[in-house]
Amino acid sequence: MHIAVVGTGYVGLVAGACLAETGNDVVCADIDARKIARLNAGEIPIYEPGLEPLVERNLREGRLRFTTDVAGTVAEAEVVFIAVGTPPGEDGSADLQHVLAVAETVGRSMPAGGPEKIVITKSTVPVGTANKVREAIARHTDRPFHVCSNPEFLKEGAAVQDFMRPDRVVVGVDSEHARSRLAELYAPFVRTGNPVLFMDIASAEITKYAANAMLATRISFMNTVAGLCEAVGANVSHVRQGIGTDERIGPGFLFAGIGYGGSCFPKDVKALVHTLRETGVDPAILEGVEQVNASQKRLLVSRVLEHFGGDLSGKCFAVWGLSFKPETDDMREAPSLTVVRGLCERGATVRAHDPEARHEAGRYFADLIETGELSLCEHNYDCLSGADALLVLTEWAPYRTPDFERIRGTLGGPVVFDGRNLWDPARMAEMGFHYVSVGRPTAAPAAAASR
Ligand code: NAD
Repeated sequence: MHIAVVGTGYVGLVAGACLAETGNDVVCADIDARKIARLNAGEIPIYEPGLEPLVERNLREGRLRFTTDVAGTVAEAEVVFIAVGTPPGEDGSADLQHVLAVAETVGRSMPAGGPEKIVITKSTVPVGTANKVREAIARHTDRPFHVCSNPEFLKEGAAVQDFMRPDRVVVGVDSEHARSRLAELYAPFVRTGNPVLFMDIASAEITKYAANAMLATRISFMNTVAGLCEAVGANVSHVRQGIGTDERIGPGFLFAGIGYGGSCFPKDVKALVHTLRETGVDPAILEGVEQVNASQKRLLVSRVLEHFGGDLSGKCFAVWGLSFKPETDDMREAPSLTVVRGLCERGATVRAHDPEARHEAGRYFADLIETGELSLCEHNYDCLSGADALLVLTEWAPYRTPDFERIRGTLGGPVVFDGRNLWDPARMAEMGFHYVSVGRPTAAPAAAASR
Protein backbone atom coordinates (compact mmCIF):
# COMPACT_ATOMS: atom_id res chain seq x y z
CA MET A 1 0.00 0.00 0.00
CA HIS A 2 1.06 3.61 -0.54
CA ILE A 3 1.18 5.10 2.93
CA ALA A 4 1.81 8.63 4.19
CA VAL A 5 2.75 9.06 7.84
CA VAL A 6 2.44 12.70 8.86
CA GLY A 7 4.47 13.55 11.97
CA THR A 8 7.82 11.80 12.31
CA GLY A 9 8.23 11.69 16.09
CA TYR A 10 8.38 8.68 18.42
CA VAL A 11 5.16 7.26 17.00
CA GLY A 12 5.30 8.35 13.36
CA LEU A 13 8.89 7.29 12.80
CA VAL A 14 8.41 3.88 14.40
CA ALA A 15 5.08 3.29 12.64
CA GLY A 16 6.53 4.39 9.29
CA ALA A 17 9.60 2.16 9.59
CA CYS A 18 7.57 -0.86 10.72
CA LEU A 19 4.97 -0.44 7.97
CA ALA A 20 7.80 -0.23 5.42
CA GLU A 21 9.36 -3.36 6.91
CA THR A 22 6.26 -5.37 5.91
CA GLY A 23 6.58 -4.26 2.27
CA ASN A 24 4.54 -1.08 2.09
CA ASP A 25 5.69 2.03 0.27
CA VAL A 26 5.93 4.60 3.09
CA VAL A 27 6.67 8.30 3.04
CA CYS A 28 7.10 10.04 6.40
CA ALA A 29 6.41 13.76 6.28
CA ASP A 30 7.15 16.35 8.93
CA ILE A 31 7.25 20.14 9.07
CA ASP A 32 10.47 20.02 11.08
CA ALA A 33 13.02 20.47 8.28
CA ARG A 34 16.01 19.77 10.55
CA LYS A 35 14.56 16.47 11.66
CA ILE A 36 13.89 15.43 8.05
CA ALA A 37 17.39 16.47 6.97
CA ARG A 38 18.89 14.35 9.76
CA LEU A 39 16.73 11.37 8.83
CA ASN A 40 17.69 11.68 5.17
CA ALA A 41 21.32 11.72 6.26
CA GLY A 42 20.72 8.39 8.03
CA GLU A 43 20.66 9.91 11.54
CA ILE A 44 17.93 8.83 13.95
CA PRO A 45 16.83 11.82 16.06
CA ILE A 46 15.60 9.72 19.01
CA TYR A 47 17.01 6.82 20.97
CA GLU A 48 14.84 3.76 20.48
CA PRO A 49 16.27 0.22 20.56
CA GLY A 50 16.17 -1.52 17.17
CA LEU A 51 14.97 1.54 15.26
CA GLU A 52 18.20 2.50 13.55
CA PRO A 53 18.79 -0.71 11.57
CA LEU A 54 15.10 -0.84 10.64
CA VAL A 55 15.14 2.71 9.23
CA GLU A 56 18.50 2.13 7.51
CA ARG A 57 17.36 -1.07 5.80
CA ASN A 58 14.06 0.32 4.58
CA LEU A 59 15.67 3.57 3.36
CA ARG A 60 18.29 1.56 1.47
CA GLU A 61 15.70 -0.72 -0.07
CA GLY A 62 13.59 2.24 -1.16
CA ARG A 63 10.44 1.46 0.83
CA LEU A 64 10.85 4.37 3.23
CA ARG A 65 11.37 8.05 2.44
CA PHE A 66 11.41 11.28 4.44
CA THR A 67 10.16 14.65 3.28
CA THR A 68 8.89 18.04 4.39
CA ASP A 69 6.35 18.05 1.55
CA VAL A 70 3.27 17.11 3.57
CA ALA A 71 0.72 18.04 0.87
CA GLY A 72 2.53 16.17 -1.91
CA THR A 73 2.97 13.07 0.26
CA VAL A 74 -0.65 13.01 1.31
CA ALA A 75 -1.84 13.54 -2.26
CA GLU A 76 -0.03 10.43 -3.48
CA ALA A 77 -1.00 8.10 -0.62
CA GLU A 78 -3.97 5.80 -0.27
CA VAL A 79 -3.59 5.56 3.50
CA VAL A 80 -2.71 8.63 5.57
CA PHE A 81 -1.67 8.25 9.20
CA ILE A 82 -1.85 11.41 11.29
CA ALA A 83 0.81 10.96 13.98
CA VAL A 84 1.51 14.54 15.04
CA GLY A 85 1.73 15.73 18.64
CA THR A 86 -1.34 16.47 20.76
CA PRO A 87 0.18 18.45 23.64
CA PRO A 88 -1.92 19.62 26.57
CA GLY A 89 -3.64 22.96 26.11
CA GLU A 90 -3.82 25.48 28.95
CA ASP A 91 -7.02 23.93 30.32
CA GLY A 92 -5.58 20.41 30.17
CA SER A 93 -7.50 19.40 27.05
CA ALA A 94 -5.58 17.89 24.13
CA ASP A 95 -4.51 20.60 21.71
CA LEU A 96 -5.75 19.46 18.31
CA GLN A 97 -4.28 22.26 16.20
CA HIS A 98 -1.63 20.03 14.60
CA VAL A 99 -4.06 17.18 13.92
CA LEU A 100 -6.60 19.51 12.34
CA ALA A 101 -3.92 21.35 10.34
CA VAL A 102 -2.96 18.01 8.79
CA ALA A 103 -6.64 17.21 8.15
CA GLU A 104 -7.01 20.53 6.30
CA THR A 105 -3.94 19.66 4.20
CA VAL A 106 -5.44 16.25 3.41
CA GLY A 107 -8.64 17.94 2.27
CA ARG A 108 -6.67 20.18 -0.06
CA SER A 109 -4.66 17.25 -1.41
CA MET A 110 -7.30 14.99 -2.91
CA PRO A 111 -6.48 14.57 -6.59
CA ALA A 112 -9.18 13.16 -8.84
CA GLY A 113 -8.80 9.47 -9.64
CA GLY A 114 -6.95 6.91 -7.57
CA PRO A 115 -8.31 4.94 -4.62
CA GLU A 116 -10.49 6.50 -1.92
CA LYS A 117 -8.22 7.85 0.81
CA ILE A 118 -8.28 6.36 4.27
CA VAL A 119 -7.30 8.95 6.87
CA ILE A 120 -6.29 7.49 10.22
CA THR A 121 -5.71 9.34 13.48
CA LYS A 122 -2.86 7.58 15.23
CA SER A 123 -2.23 10.53 17.52
CA THR A 124 -3.95 10.24 20.89
CA VAL A 125 -7.08 12.36 20.49
CA PRO A 126 -10.21 12.87 22.59
CA VAL A 127 -13.48 11.22 21.73
CA GLY A 128 -15.20 13.17 18.98
CA THR A 129 -11.98 14.15 17.16
CA ALA A 130 -12.66 11.91 14.14
CA ASN A 131 -15.73 14.01 13.43
CA LYS A 132 -13.62 17.18 13.53
CA VAL A 133 -11.06 15.58 11.22
CA ARG A 134 -13.83 14.59 8.84
CA GLU A 135 -15.25 18.12 8.84
CA ALA A 136 -11.82 19.68 8.29
CA ILE A 137 -11.19 17.46 5.25
CA ALA A 138 -14.70 17.90 3.85
CA ARG A 139 -14.31 21.70 3.93
CA HIS A 140 -11.90 21.40 1.00
CA THR A 141 -13.08 18.46 -1.08
CA ASP A 142 -16.13 16.63 -2.27
CA ARG A 143 -14.20 13.48 -3.12
CA PRO A 144 -15.06 10.44 -1.00
CA PHE A 145 -12.72 9.50 1.88
CA HIS A 146 -12.77 7.42 5.06
CA VAL A 147 -11.78 8.50 8.57
CA CYS A 148 -10.62 5.93 11.15
CA SER A 149 -9.23 5.97 14.66
CA ASN A 150 -6.22 3.71 15.24
CA PRO A 151 -4.68 4.69 18.58
CA GLU A 152 -1.12 3.61 19.19
CA PHE A 153 -0.13 1.60 22.27
CA LEU A 154 3.62 1.31 21.76
CA LYS A 155 5.90 1.99 24.72
CA GLU A 156 8.96 4.15 24.30
CA GLY A 157 11.98 1.95 24.90
CA ALA A 158 10.25 -1.07 23.32
CA ALA A 159 8.46 0.75 20.52
CA VAL A 160 9.67 -1.30 17.57
CA GLN A 161 8.89 -4.58 19.26
CA ASP A 162 5.47 -3.30 20.39
CA PHE A 163 4.59 -2.14 16.89
CA MET A 164 5.83 -5.31 15.18
CA ARG A 165 4.14 -7.60 17.72
CA PRO A 166 1.29 -5.68 19.35
CA ASP A 167 -0.84 -7.20 22.12
CA ARG A 168 -3.76 -5.96 20.05
CA VAL A 169 -4.52 -3.42 17.39
CA VAL A 170 -7.53 -1.19 18.02
CA VAL A 171 -9.27 0.25 14.98
CA GLY A 172 -12.38 2.42 15.02
CA VAL A 173 -14.10 2.39 11.61
CA ASP A 174 -17.43 3.24 10.10
CA SER A 175 -17.00 1.82 6.61
CA GLU A 176 -16.49 -1.69 5.30
CA HIS A 177 -13.85 -0.45 2.85
CA ALA A 178 -11.67 1.01 5.63
CA ARG A 179 -12.16 -2.08 7.73
CA SER A 180 -10.98 -4.47 5.03
CA ARG A 181 -7.98 -2.32 3.96
CA LEU A 182 -6.84 -1.97 7.59
CA ALA A 183 -7.31 -5.68 8.23
CA GLU A 184 -4.96 -6.30 5.29
CA LEU A 185 -2.46 -3.69 6.46
CA TYR A 186 -2.22 -5.10 9.98
CA ALA A 187 -2.35 -8.82 9.10
CA PRO A 188 1.48 -9.22 9.04
CA PHE A 189 1.71 -7.82 12.59
CA VAL A 190 -0.75 -10.24 14.19
CA ARG A 191 0.29 -13.55 12.65
CA THR A 192 0.51 -15.20 16.06
CA GLY A 193 -3.18 -14.58 16.65
CA ASN A 194 -3.28 -11.36 18.64
CA PRO A 195 -6.48 -9.57 17.76
CA VAL A 196 -7.21 -6.63 15.53
CA LEU A 197 -10.20 -5.23 17.38
CA PHE A 198 -12.57 -3.38 15.09
CA MET A 199 -15.07 -1.15 16.84
CA ASP A 200 -16.93 2.11 16.43
CA ILE A 201 -14.75 5.21 16.23
CA ALA A 202 -15.76 6.76 19.56
CA SER A 203 -14.95 3.54 21.44
CA ALA A 204 -11.51 3.36 19.80
CA GLU A 205 -10.76 6.96 20.76
CA ILE A 206 -11.80 6.30 24.37
CA THR A 207 -9.85 3.01 24.54
CA LYS A 208 -6.50 4.79 24.30
CA TYR A 209 -7.26 7.19 27.17
CA ALA A 210 -8.80 4.43 29.25
CA ALA A 211 -5.66 2.30 28.85
CA ASN A 212 -3.25 5.07 29.87
CA ALA A 213 -5.48 6.29 32.69
CA MET A 214 -5.78 2.73 34.05
CA LEU A 215 -1.99 2.29 34.05
CA ALA A 216 -1.46 5.69 35.68
CA THR A 217 -4.09 4.76 38.27
CA ARG A 218 -2.24 1.57 39.16
CA ILE A 219 0.94 3.56 39.69
CA SER A 220 -0.68 6.21 41.88
CA PHE A 221 -2.58 3.52 43.77
CA MET A 222 0.65 1.69 44.58
CA ASN A 223 2.32 4.95 45.58
CA THR A 224 -0.53 5.53 48.02
CA VAL A 225 -0.03 2.02 49.41
CA ALA A 226 3.71 2.81 49.62
CA GLY A 227 2.89 5.82 51.80
CA LEU A 228 0.92 3.58 54.15
CA CYS A 229 3.76 1.06 54.24
CA GLU A 230 6.20 3.80 55.20
CA ALA A 231 3.87 5.11 57.90
CA VAL A 232 3.62 1.73 59.64
CA GLY A 233 7.00 0.18 58.79
CA ALA A 234 5.71 -2.31 56.20
CA ASN A 235 7.29 -3.12 52.84
CA VAL A 236 5.51 -2.25 49.59
CA SER A 237 7.51 -4.84 47.64
CA HIS A 238 5.94 -7.60 49.71
CA VAL A 239 2.51 -6.07 49.27
CA ARG A 240 3.11 -5.83 45.52
CA GLN A 241 3.93 -9.52 45.32
CA GLY A 242 1.01 -10.32 47.58
CA ILE A 243 -1.50 -8.64 45.31
CA GLY A 244 0.23 -9.10 41.93
CA THR A 245 -0.05 -12.88 42.18
CA ASP A 246 -3.84 -12.54 42.29
CA GLU A 247 -4.75 -13.25 38.70
CA ARG A 248 -7.55 -10.71 38.83
CA ILE A 249 -4.92 -8.04 39.52
CA GLY A 250 -1.79 -9.27 37.69
CA PRO A 251 1.80 -8.20 38.34
CA GLY A 252 2.28 -5.33 35.84
CA PHE A 253 2.46 -1.65 36.73
CA LEU A 254 2.52 -2.17 40.48
CA PHE A 255 5.93 -0.70 41.27
CA ALA A 256 6.03 2.14 43.75
CA GLY A 257 8.41 4.96 42.90
CA ILE A 258 8.75 8.68 42.35
CA GLY A 259 5.83 8.93 39.97
CA TYR A 260 5.00 8.54 36.32
CA GLY A 261 6.21 10.94 33.64
CA GLY A 262 6.75 10.90 29.91
CA SER A 263 4.87 12.36 27.02
CA CYS A 264 1.72 10.30 27.48
CA PHE A 265 0.45 9.48 30.99
CA PRO A 266 0.51 13.02 32.40
CA LYS A 267 -1.09 14.67 29.39
CA ASP A 268 -3.55 11.86 28.70
CA VAL A 269 -4.81 11.74 32.28
CA LYS A 270 -5.25 15.54 32.16
CA ALA A 271 -7.07 15.36 28.85
CA LEU A 272 -9.38 12.60 30.07
CA VAL A 273 -10.20 14.62 33.21
CA HIS A 274 -11.09 17.48 30.88
CA THR A 275 -13.32 15.27 28.70
CA LEU A 276 -15.03 13.79 31.77
CA ARG A 277 -15.80 17.28 33.10
CA GLU A 278 -17.06 18.41 29.72
CA THR A 279 -19.40 15.46 29.44
CA GLY A 280 -20.65 15.81 33.02
CA VAL A 281 -18.98 12.63 34.30
CA ASP A 282 -17.29 12.81 37.71
CA PRO A 283 -13.48 12.84 37.20
CA ALA A 284 -12.68 12.41 40.93
CA ILE A 285 -10.77 9.16 40.55
CA LEU A 286 -8.38 10.63 37.97
CA GLU A 287 -7.98 13.91 39.83
CA GLY A 288 -6.75 11.78 42.73
CA VAL A 289 -4.34 9.95 40.43
CA GLU A 290 -2.85 13.26 39.31
CA GLN A 291 -2.59 14.65 42.83
CA VAL A 292 -0.79 11.57 44.12
CA ASN A 293 1.61 11.68 41.20
CA ALA A 294 2.45 15.34 41.68
CA SER A 295 3.29 14.82 45.34
CA GLN A 296 5.21 11.62 44.55
CA LYS A 297 7.53 13.58 42.26
CA ARG A 298 8.38 15.83 45.24
CA LEU A 299 8.93 12.92 47.63
CA LEU A 300 12.65 12.44 47.15
CA VAL A 301 13.54 16.09 47.71
CA SER A 302 11.54 16.03 51.00
CA ARG A 303 13.44 12.92 52.08
CA VAL A 304 16.75 14.55 51.25
CA LEU A 305 15.75 17.70 53.17
CA GLU A 306 14.70 15.63 56.18
CA HIS A 307 17.97 13.75 56.17
CA PHE A 308 20.11 16.89 55.95
CA GLY A 309 18.21 18.84 58.61
CA GLY A 310 16.30 21.08 56.19
CA ASP A 311 19.36 22.81 54.72
CA LEU A 312 20.86 21.81 51.39
CA SER A 313 22.95 24.90 50.74
CA GLY A 314 26.46 23.99 49.68
CA LYS A 315 25.55 20.31 49.39
CA CYS A 316 26.36 18.33 46.25
CA PHE A 317 24.26 15.44 45.00
CA ALA A 318 24.94 12.72 42.47
CA VAL A 319 21.96 11.76 40.32
CA TRP A 320 21.68 8.57 38.27
CA GLY A 321 19.01 8.65 35.58
CA LEU A 322 17.22 11.61 34.00
CA SER A 323 14.92 10.09 31.35
CA PHE A 324 11.37 9.40 32.49
CA LYS A 325 12.02 5.67 32.20
CA PRO A 326 14.83 3.39 31.00
CA GLU A 327 15.63 2.71 27.34
CA THR A 328 14.55 6.13 26.15
CA ASP A 329 16.10 9.59 25.98
CA ASP A 330 12.67 11.20 26.47
CA MET A 331 12.58 13.59 29.43
CA ARG A 332 9.09 15.03 28.93
CA GLU A 333 7.48 15.37 32.41
CA ALA A 334 10.24 13.21 33.90
CA PRO A 335 10.41 13.17 37.72
CA SER A 336 14.06 14.22 37.31
CA LEU A 337 12.86 17.68 36.26
CA THR A 338 11.20 18.17 39.65
CA VAL A 339 13.98 16.53 41.66
CA VAL A 340 17.01 18.23 40.08
CA ARG A 341 15.34 21.66 40.15
CA GLY A 342 14.13 21.04 43.70
CA LEU A 343 17.68 20.35 44.89
CA CYS A 344 19.17 23.34 43.05
CA GLU A 345 16.44 25.72 44.27
CA ARG A 346 17.50 24.83 47.81
CA GLY A 347 21.11 25.79 47.19
CA ALA A 348 22.57 22.40 46.27
CA THR A 349 24.58 21.50 43.19
CA VAL A 350 23.94 18.35 41.18
CA ARG A 351 26.13 16.08 39.07
CA ALA A 352 24.00 13.82 36.90
CA HIS A 353 24.37 10.90 34.55
CA ASP A 354 22.01 9.26 32.10
CA PRO A 355 23.03 6.64 29.54
CA GLU A 356 21.01 8.22 26.71
CA ALA A 357 19.36 11.47 27.80
CA ARG A 358 22.44 13.65 28.00
CA HIS A 359 21.53 15.65 24.94
CA GLU A 360 17.93 16.15 26.10
CA ALA A 361 19.15 17.06 29.58
CA GLY A 362 21.29 19.77 28.02
CA ARG A 363 18.09 21.31 26.60
CA TYR A 364 15.88 20.91 29.66
CA PHE A 365 18.47 22.11 32.13
CA ALA A 366 20.34 24.68 29.98
CA ASP A 367 19.86 27.36 32.68
CA LEU A 368 21.21 25.20 35.51
CA ILE A 369 24.15 24.05 33.40
CA GLU A 370 24.92 27.66 32.53
CA THR A 371 25.06 28.70 36.19
CA GLY A 372 27.10 25.64 37.13
CA GLU A 373 24.38 24.30 39.45
CA LEU A 374 24.14 21.17 37.33
CA SER A 375 26.85 19.30 35.46
CA LEU A 376 26.33 16.25 33.27
CA CYS A 377 28.79 13.39 33.58
CA GLU A 378 29.89 10.94 30.92
CA HIS A 379 30.01 7.94 33.27
CA ASN A 380 27.78 7.18 36.24
CA TYR A 381 30.67 6.82 38.68
CA ASP A 382 32.01 10.26 37.65
CA CYS A 383 29.09 11.92 39.50
CA LEU A 384 29.93 10.43 42.84
CA SER A 385 33.20 11.96 43.89
CA GLY A 386 32.71 13.72 47.24
CA ALA A 387 28.92 14.00 46.77
CA ASP A 388 26.79 14.11 49.92
CA ALA A 389 24.42 11.46 48.59
CA LEU A 390 23.41 9.51 45.50
CA LEU A 391 19.86 9.76 44.15
CA VAL A 392 18.56 7.15 41.70
CA LEU A 393 15.77 8.51 39.51
CA THR A 394 15.55 6.06 36.57
CA GLU A 395 15.91 2.28 36.71
CA TRP A 396 18.40 1.92 33.83
CA ALA A 397 19.81 -1.62 33.57
CA PRO A 398 23.46 -0.57 34.11
CA TYR A 399 22.50 0.83 37.53
CA ARG A 400 21.00 -2.42 38.75
CA THR A 401 24.15 -4.21 39.87
CA PRO A 402 26.76 -1.50 40.32
CA ASP A 403 30.04 -1.70 42.19
CA PHE A 404 28.76 -0.80 45.67
CA GLU A 405 32.25 -0.71 47.16
CA ARG A 406 33.19 1.89 44.61
CA ILE A 407 30.02 3.91 45.29
CA ARG A 408 30.67 3.91 49.04
CA GLY A 409 34.35 4.69 48.62
CA THR A 410 33.70 7.59 46.24
CA LEU A 411 30.70 9.33 47.80
CA GLY A 412 31.42 11.94 50.46
CA GLY A 413 28.88 10.18 52.70
CA PRO A 414 27.38 6.70 52.21
CA VAL A 415 23.81 7.94 51.68
CA VAL A 416 21.50 6.74 48.91
CA PHE A 417 17.99 7.87 48.01
CA ASP A 418 16.55 5.32 45.63
CA GLY A 419 13.43 6.54 43.84
CA ARG A 420 13.03 3.24 41.96
CA ASN A 421 13.60 0.61 44.65
CA LEU A 422 16.48 -0.96 42.74
CA TRP A 423 18.37 -2.41 45.65
CA ASP A 424 17.69 -4.53 48.71
CA PRO A 425 17.54 -2.42 51.89
CA ALA A 426 19.07 -5.11 54.13
CA ARG A 427 22.00 -5.63 51.73
CA MET A 428 22.54 -1.88 51.48
CA ALA A 429 22.67 -1.59 55.25
CA GLU A 430 25.14 -4.48 55.45
CA MET A 431 27.36 -2.69 52.95
CA GLY A 432 27.34 0.41 55.12
CA PHE A 433 24.81 2.62 53.37
CA HIS A 434 22.09 4.78 54.81
CA TYR A 435 19.46 3.76 52.24
CA VAL A 436 16.12 5.44 51.67
CA SER A 437 13.72 3.96 49.13
CA VAL A 438 9.97 4.22 48.44
CA GLY A 439 7.47 2.35 50.60
CA ARG A 440 10.12 0.27 52.33
CA PRO A 441 11.78 0.79 55.70
CA THR A 442 14.82 3.05 55.64
CA ALA A 443 17.97 1.01 56.15
CA ALA A 444 20.74 2.32 58.37
CA PRO A 445 24.35 1.08 58.09
CA ALA A 446 24.71 -2.25 59.89
CA ALA A 447 27.44 -0.96 62.24
CA ALA A 448 25.36 2.06 63.25
CA ALA A 449 22.26 -0.10 63.71
CA SER A 450 24.03 -2.46 66.08
CA ARG A 451 25.59 0.31 68.17
P1 NAD B 1 6.56 13.88 18.88
O1 NAD B 1 6.48 15.22 19.47
O2 NAD B 1 7.76 13.02 19.10
O3 NAD B 1 6.37 13.99 17.29
C1 NAD B 1 5.37 14.75 16.67
C2 NAD B 1 5.89 15.19 15.30
O4 NAD B 1 4.84 15.84 14.58
C3 NAD B 1 7.03 16.21 15.40
O5 NAD B 1 8.14 15.74 14.67
C4 NAD B 1 6.44 17.49 14.76
O6 NAD B 1 7.39 18.25 14.05
C5 NAD B 1 5.40 16.89 13.82
N1 NAD B 1 4.35 17.82 13.43
C6 NAD B 1 3.65 18.70 14.18
N2 NAD B 1 2.75 19.37 13.42
C7 NAD B 1 2.88 18.88 12.16
C8 NAD B 1 2.22 19.15 10.93
N3 NAD B 1 1.24 20.07 10.84
N4 NAD B 1 2.60 18.46 9.83
C9 NAD B 1 3.60 17.55 9.89
N5 NAD B 1 4.25 17.25 11.03
C10 NAD B 1 3.90 17.90 12.15
O7 NAD B 1 5.23 13.13 19.34
P2 NAD B 1 5.03 11.56 19.59
O8 NAD B 1 5.58 11.20 20.92
O9 NAD B 1 5.43 10.80 18.38
O10 NAD B 1 3.43 11.52 19.75
C11 NAD B 1 2.58 11.70 18.64
C12 NAD B 1 1.17 11.32 19.06
O11 NAD B 1 1.13 9.92 19.42
C13 NAD B 1 0.66 12.06 20.31
O12 NAD B 1 -0.71 12.26 20.17
C14 NAD B 1 0.93 11.08 21.43
O13 NAD B 1 0.07 11.25 22.52
C15 NAD B 1 0.67 9.76 20.76
N6 NAD B 1 1.37 8.62 21.35
C16 NAD B 1 2.65 8.76 21.77
C17 NAD B 1 3.32 7.64 22.30
C18 NAD B 1 4.73 7.76 22.80
O14 NAD B 1 5.18 6.85 23.50
N7 NAD B 1 5.46 8.80 22.48
C19 NAD B 1 2.66 6.41 22.39
C20 NAD B 1 1.37 6.30 21.92
C21 NAD B 1 0.72 7.43 21.40
